[in-house]
Amino acid sequence: MNLVVVSNRVSRASANEPMTGGLAAALLPVVEKSGAIWVGSSGRVRDGAQKEPFAEIETLGAGALAMLDLPAAHYAGYYEGFANSALWPALHSRSDLIRSSHEDYKSYREVNSFMARALLRFRKPDTVFWIQDYHFLALGAELRDLGVTHPIGFFLHTPWPTRAIFGGVPNHRELVEAMLAYDLIGFQTDDDRNNFLSYVENDLGLDIAGGVVASRFGMSRCAVFPIGIDPARFAAHAAKAASHPDVSRLRRSLNGEKLAIGVDRVDYSKGLVNRLTAFDRMLTLQPQLKRTVSLLQIATLSRGTIEAYGDLQNQLAKLVSDINGRHGEVDWTPIRYLNKGFSQTVLAGLYRTAHVGLVTPLNDGMNLVAKEYVAAQNPVDPGVLVLSKFAGAANELDAALLVNPHDIDGMARTIATAFSMPLPERRMRWEAMMARLRAGTIQDWFSDFVEALQDAHAAGAKATGDHPPEDPPMVWPTRSFSAIVGNRFH
Ligand code: UDP
Repeated sequence: MNLVVVSNRVSRASANEPMTGGLAAALLPVVEKSGAIWVGSSGRVRDGAQKEPFAEIETLGAGALAMLDLPAAHYAGYYEGFANSALWPALHSRSDLIRSSHEDYKSYREVNSFMARALLRFRKPDTVFWIQDYHFLALGAELRDLGVTHPIGFFLHTPWPTRAIFGGVPNHRELVEAMLAYDLIGFQTDDDRNNFLSYVENDLGLDIAGGVVASRFGMSRCAVFPIGIDPARFAAHAAKAASHPDVSRLRRSLNGEKLAIGVDRVDYSKGLVNRLTAFDRMLTLQPQLKRTVSLLQIATLSRGTIEAYGDLQNQLAKLVSDINGRHGEVDWTPIRYLNKGFSQTVLAGLYRTAHVGLVTPLNDGMNLVAKEYVAAQNPVDPGVLVLSKFAGAANELDAALLVNPHDIDGMARTIATAFSMPLPERRMRWEAMMARLRAGTIQDWFSDFVEALQDAHAAGAKATGDHPPEDPPMVWPTRSFSAIVGNRFH
């Protein structure tokens, strides 16, 4: 089997650089090991790229990385427009933040179709395509229209909302119909899968039997594959990072204070305003905690050109300075707020230094930070995870202190409880969570999905367009393609 993994962004980061998000962080180690080719955007655009897909190829472990320049005329409409100003808000149940034009949708479809044409280059008789995330809902249908009959799977890293909310996305019907070109559609949780099937049944009027949908494309199976991490790798990073300058400086700066940590992209789905407000409320309700606790919030900036993100950045900066101004003392600041990223190695050391991990999204597909925080703890003196019940991770990490991120007083009380939890209870909860992490690693997620995809494909052949076109020309700028991937993808 030749596996071709496709996502908007790829990651070439080593353990020594920050990851751009959960998807890249999760995929990098498994793709490296599997020998797959990972195709995604280079982050650059190119005029006239429509005619000649331009890819830069690098080796990646046993496999390869192919980075494409996307068409300049459509990139903004695709990425900032339809993907992140229509789909992302809707998938996180924030229809009020949808801002999108028909031109954006057109660009989204153009980029999906561009990617489909570029992928033909990687097609061999035994190729299996695995498409990642909401940027490429229609990529499978585009591939089928080009005559591709190979197994094509799709995994959604975000939540899938209720029917009524998805119905607020412009062109929602066309998009879901296009998704049925996939042999296998994977979700993070049962709720996500059930919401999707409910849309398919009620809005498209299609029959569903055992999670399998029959459409004009053939059969599509819908199933749940909760994404995991490599807990042993995080534990090893955490132990090793203790002597890293950032980690030892943090430890020294605490002066006996207990530390809570939050690590998030600045995104409205992450519930940062509610979290900071709950920390504020806790200090107001229990002033004796002043000087004994503090919060380190790592908040990496993302999608800053989109208005909702720029507004949130300003709101958070103001809120932090307001809280620090009201509660701070000459020798103590309640919140350390950093807009920079750390490598996963250093991050593991920071997680381990913190007595409490705060992961309180309003809505999140999985949230890998929650899992990483647990895996990085010292087994003999583990910290406490405070976790939103609206993160996908709450299904597995039900031994965390689960909170409703809309209930500020409740969160304030739970954070205080976490700071004072006795060791036996901390260990009991931590061991239960570790057992779940070990039972569903990222490697399991990867191999379970690929196996289920091959089964789903074998169970139902797909209908395709009649006249497959010739493979388009492709420019290989750096080293020759075959020098890196051999003859596997010609
Ligand atoms: N991350 C990182 N450095 C940072 C902040 C985050 O490498 O400074 C990584 C983190 O380890 C995690 C990912 O980025 O693997 C964030 O994934 P998550 O699922 O929590 O959220 P997403 O950003 O994908 O919504």
